[in-house]
Amino acid sequence: LPDGAGPGPLLVLLLGPAGSGKSTAAAAWPEADVVTPGAVPGPAAWWPSPGATPLRELHALVTEVEGRLARGRTCVVDAALTEGADRARLLAVAERYGALPVALVMGTPLGLCLERNAARPPHRRLPGGTVRAQYARTRDAVPGLRAEGFARVEILHGGSAHG
Ligand code: ATP
Ligand code: MG
Repeated sequence: LPDGAGPGPLLVLLLGPAGSGKSTAAAAWPEADVVTPGAVPGPAAWWPSPGATPLRELHALVTEVEGRLARGRTCVVDAALTEGADRARLLAVAERYGALPVALVMGTPLGLCLERNAARPPHRRLPGGTVRAQYARTRDAVPGLRAEGFARVEILHGGSAHG
């Protein structure tokens, strides 16, 4: 991982479906650097659906990230951002504040994500089809992440930032 590379902060996006290990990987950073989906921990994110982030939630996320990057703080986003248009909003903020945008993609196999999801208590469990769709969208996005504007794209195997 780039470790405080360059003069500016990092904007780290953790990408992967529910159960892929985003929150586990996020624990490699100081808790204060991690932007999580609202105050209530729940499955996947604010938006468990694989589609575009609802506007209000996206706005809240972008505003939070912008406030942190404007102060030169590294920002680790733990949210299932499956849509390029949503990621583009954050990339624009990173560019505005000279933050280095990094994508860390959970390389966890779909079967393991599904297993973990199925093992969760019912209120934290998503429909299997949703996990599959999140997985497919993330996988399909990977080849284009550099073109989207990420300076570094890393695939994390074993779901660990140290793996
Ligand atoms: P969600 O999108 O639903 O928040 P997530 O991507 O944040 O999911 P985690 O909650 O980090 O996923 O991980 C899901 C489960 O898998 C957890 O029970 C966690 O303990 C386990 N897990 C994650 N990473 C690893 C790992 N590297 N090795 C073993 N177990 C792991
Ligand atoms: Mg999580």
